[in-house]
This record gives sequence, C-alpha cells and structure tokens, in this order.
Amino acid sequence: MDCKIIFLGTAGNNSTYQQLKPAGGIIFKFNDKQFHIDPGPGALISAKEANVNPKETNVLIATHNHLNHFNDVNAIINAMTSKGMDKIGTLIFPESLSEEKFQKDFLKESFSLEANKTKPFDDIILKTLPTKHNDIHGFGLKFTAPNLTVTYTSDTGYSKGVVENYKNSDILILNNVYPLNHKKSEHNLSSEDSIKIIKKIQPALAIITHFSTKMLEANPIYEAREIQKQTEVQTIAAKDGLMINPLSMSISLRQKSLNQY
Ligand SMILES: [Zn+2]
Repeated sequence: MDCKIIFLGTAGNNSTYQQLKPAGGIIFKFNDKQFHIDPGPGALISAKEANVNPKETNVLIATHNHLNHFNDVNAIINAMTSKGMDKIGTLIFPESLSEEKFQKDFLKESFSLEANKTKPFDDIILKTLPTKHNDIHGFGLKFTAPNLTVTYTSDTGYSKGVVENYKNSDILILNNVYPLNHKKSEHNLSSEDSIKIIKKIQPALAIITHFSTKMLEANPIYEAREIQKQTEVQTIAAKDGLMINPLSMSISLRQKSLNQY
C-alpha cells in the first residue's frame, strides 16, 4: 500500500492570524483515497504549492469549530467538485459546525460525527477520538489501514482517557501548540505533554505540528530533538510542505525555501 502524509501548514492558534505560517491542514493519502483534514486559511494555495490536487479529495474533515481548522472547507469543496458540477466526496464535521453554511449540496454526502464513531472507506477504517478542547464536540482521528495505523490528536489537552485511544499507533501526529517550560494549558498540548504521550504509546514515529508563536520562538526542531531524547522515539517537527511516505520512511520537502523556521 502507498501512503503519503503532507503538511499544508503548521500554524497553530495565534501564529495563524499573525500570518507566521499557513494553516492549510494535513493530507493523508492511502493508495487512491485522499483525506484532507482541517483546511484552515490558505488551504488551496498551500495544496497547490505541495502538488496536491484538491479534485482528488475523497473525504474532507473539519475536526472542530476553530477557524484555523475549518475556514477553507467551502474553498476545498468548490475546487474538489468543480463548483458542484461533479457531485462527489464526503464532508465530515462535528455537531458544533452543523449550523455552518457549508456547500453540502455540491457533495455526494455530508454528516456530523461525535467522538468514538467508526466509518469505513473501503479498506481504511476511520475512527473519531475524544479530545479535551474548548469545542466539546471536536474529535481527533485514527486511520487504520491494512498495514499502518496513523493517529492525529487534533487540538486537545492532556488527559489519560484521551491518550488511551492513541494505543497501537504506528505514526502519532500531535498538535504540540506550546514548547517545554510553558505554563500548563488545559486545552492544548505542550512538549511536556507530548513526551508523556509518546512514552506511553511508543509509536514508530511521532510528528509534532500546529505551532503557536511561542513554539515557533522556541524552535520546533529543538523541541522535537528534546522530545526524541527524552522518549527515545523518532520525533520530527512538521514543516510547511513536508511530505512523508511512512512505509518507506522517506521524508521530503517540496520547497527548499520553506525549509527553515
Ligand atoms: Zn482548536
């Protein structure tokens, strides 16, 4: 099976609105199935820069009702369906976005999900996971493919109950909003939280993303190194445009110019 994970933007919280980084979300490609998760502001242009064709999107998911996770849902729907000419694709969102004016009539289907629900897309099983965040209806995601399990925490604070659901992940993607030695946040992960989680879950690879201004100042690469040192699990900091093929563990950047913080 072919799998690609592409980061269309690594901004989290305030860094999105200070225009420090794009927040276009993450693409998960399992063979010919393309999932676009959390298309925040700039998702379309970031997709173009990363050679991602929005028309190939099968499933579009907004994990919660914060603008940097769903702002460009309609832009992606328009691109993927050629403005409704092709009635294709699925949109999944939490109940907290039910009133949002998404262009659902352009799509084959759209529905809300709560946490702990399972939805198969051929041989890929998608499961929504609980989070501890300001949007109580939000969810994380676990993709179980035939030979690979990938978990995305979405925005969440640390809680034993939440972390329990990450078990058996080969790849764990953490929205690591704050750096080490930052004051404890109820609703977002810091590098200390990531260390605790990674030690417990022991994935083959951990990837941190969704960086706040404070995290960018601390430098995500240093934070990833420190996390790796303390957990002995390979940990990398996502970059805008980063593409990973986890089954061959090849990591590449589409754009050299983006290869710095
Ligand atoms: Zn959030």
